[in-house]
Amino acid sequence: MSAYIPVKEKIKRGEDSKLKVIVVGAGLGGLGAAISILLAGHDVLILESASEIAEVGAGIQILPNSSRVLQSWGMREALSHHCTKPKQVNMLGWKGNHISSMNFEESAANYPGTFYWDFHRASLHKCLLNRAVELGALVQCNSRVLDVRICRNGESARVVLESEREIEADLVVGADGINSRLREVMLGKVDPPIPTGDLAYRLLLSTSKMMKDPELASLVTDPQVNYWLGPDMHAVNYVLKGGKLFNMVLLVPDDMPAGASTLEGNVEEMRALYKNWDPRIPKLLSMCESVYKWRLCIRPGMENWSHPSGAFTLLGDAVHATLPYLASGAGMALEDSIVLGECLSRITSKCSAEKQMALRVYENCRKDRTEMVVQRGNLQQYLYHLHDGPEQEERDRRMRMIPTPPGE
Ligand code: FAD
Repeated sequence: MSAYIPVKEKIKRGEDSKLKVIVVGAGLGGLGAAISILLAGHDVLILESASEIAEVGAGIQILPNSSRVLQSWGMREALSHHCTKPKQVNMLGWKGNHISSMNFEESAANYPGTFYWDFHRASLHKCLLNRAVELGALVQCNSRVLDVRICRNGESARVVLESEREIEADLVVGADGINSRLREVMLGKVDPPIPTGDLAYRLLLSTSKMMKDPELASLVTDPQVNYWLGPDMHAVNYVLKGGKLFNMVLLVPDDMPAGASTLEGNVEEMRALYKNWDPRIPKLLSMCESVYKWRLCIRPGMENWSHPSGAFTLLGDAVHATLPYLASGAGMALEDSIVLGECLSRITSKCSAEKQMALRVYENCRKDRTEMVVQRGNLQQYLYHLHDGPEQEERDRRMRMIPTPPGE
C-alpha cells in the first residue's frame, strides 16, 4: 500500500472544453472548489465580499476523510508545517472522568495517509489560497455578489455585484457560507438558517501561562483532543501551532438576542457556567480575558443544489451547514469540492448537457452524505448534552464499546 495519497495532476485541455468558472466566496469551501476545478483544467475567478481574504482566529479539526482530500491536491508538504497531529481523542464526563479514547496514531498506521490534523484556521486558509493561486486562480476581494442571472438560453450565468458590475461565466459556484445569498437566489425566496438552541464560545489561549501549572502543562506537552460532556453543554480542546496556542470551544445554551449571529461575550458569565466542571476547565477559563460567542445554526440541505441549466450550483455551508459537533462542516465542503472537480474533469465540451450531467452526478454523490452529517450533528447535540442518569450511563457504556481499529 502506498504510504501517501496520490497527488492529482492538472488536466490540460483545449479552449473548446475549458469552462470559465466563477466561485463566489473565498472560505475553506470556495478555495477548495477553486483548487479542484483548476485541477480539472478549467479557469477560475474567485469573488469574495470581504476586503481581504482571512479566517476567524480559531482552531479547526481536519479529520482523515478531509486530510486525504487536501493531500490529493498536493498540499501535504505545505500543511505539514502548520498542523498539529494529536495522539488521540478522549471523551470525558463533565467532572473529568474518562469515558473512552480513540488512538489516531494506530488508525493512521493501518490506513496510511489518513491523518487527523488540527490547524489554526488562518494557516489552513492561507495554504488553500496559495495553492489556488499557484494553480492559476484569479481572486477579487470587495466583490459582494447580489444576484445570479441565467443567460444565453441557459448556456451561461451572469453574477451581479454590489457595485452593479456584471460578470459572465459558463458556471457559477455559490460557496458563500451559511448566510448564503446565492442559496436564496437559487430558491427564489428568503431562507434564513435555522438556530439550534446552542452557541459557541471560542477561545485561543497562549500556552506559556499554562506551562507553569503541571496539570495544565500536560494538556500541551501531550497533544490530545478532549471532549468534556455535561448537562446541556460540552467543551472541546486541542493544541495548535506546535503547542504555542490552546484552542477551546465551549458549547452552551443560546442566550443571544434574536437576529444576532456573533457578539462579544461576558467572561464572568462564561466562567460561571463551568464553575463546577473538571477543575482544569475553570483554571483554563481564568486565563481568558475576552471572548466572542457565535450562535450555532444549521441548513438541513436542499431539494436541488443546482439550476437545471447546468450554469449555477452551490457548495459547502450554503447548502448543508451543520452543528460543529462532529467537526465536519469544513470537511464536507472539501469533499463537495473534490467531487465537483472530479465531475467537471469529465467534461469534453462546454455544452449545457455535459454541465447538467456533471452537476447531477455531483449532487447525487453528495446529497445523502451531507444530509446525514447534519442529522448526526443534531443527534450528537442530544447525546453530548444528556443530564446525569440512566440515559447518560447507557451513552457512556456504548461509547466504551466503540470497535477498536483493525489489526489491534
Ligand atoms: P464560509 O467559511 O462561511 O465562507 C463563505 C465565504 O463567502 C466568506 O469568505 C464570506 O465572506 C464570503 N461571502 C459571503 N457572502 C458573499 C457574497 N454575497 N458575495 C461574495 N462573497 C461572499 N468544520 C470542520 O470541518 N472541523 C471543525 O473542527 C469545525 N469546527 C467548527 C467550530 C465552530 C464553532 C463552528 C461555528 C464551525 C466549525 N466547523 C468545523 C464548520 C466550518 O467552519 C464550516 O463548515 C466551513 O468554514 C464552511 O465553509 P464555507 O466555505 O462553506 O463557508
